[in-house]
Amino acid sequence: MADCLFCKIIAGEIPSKKVYEDDEIVAFNDINGQAPMHVLVVPRKHIATLNDLKPEADALVGAMTRRAAALAAARGYATSGYRTVFNCNADAGQAVFHIHLHVLAGRKLAWPPG
Ligand code: AMP
Ligand code: ZN
Repeated sequence: MADCLFCKIIAGEIPSKKVYEDDEIVAFNDINGQAPMHVLVVPRKHIATLNDLKPEADALVGAMTRRAAALAAARGYATSGYRTVFNCNADAGQAVFHIHLHVLAGRKLAWPPG
């Protein structure tokens, strides 16, 4: 997708601090981190929003979720806790229209979110 920020990051056209990558998934630090750990887990495939998920992406989304857990565990947050968030469309504040799973950890996170 030519005009997508995360497609450009995945392609290496825009720099990022990658923390994980495989054939399907890339994870990198959020540029405006909101916690000591704030990683975005992103599929290489361009999917604009959660509303666009098809059944064939079920395994991909499962892999993203398990990767988020593994990355949090690798930083020592499995027991203390972490939060995973997909924002979808305007009211949730989605700003980049390529799905991404936020992984936040390292401080007490308020609930409900603002
Ligand atoms: P969302 O509001 O859920 O669409 O989240 C988009 C996230 O992308 C925000 O947390 C931004 O800080 C983050 N972001 C925007 N540009 C970049 C970038 N160039 N590299 C890393 N993260 C970015
Ligand atoms: Zn994209």
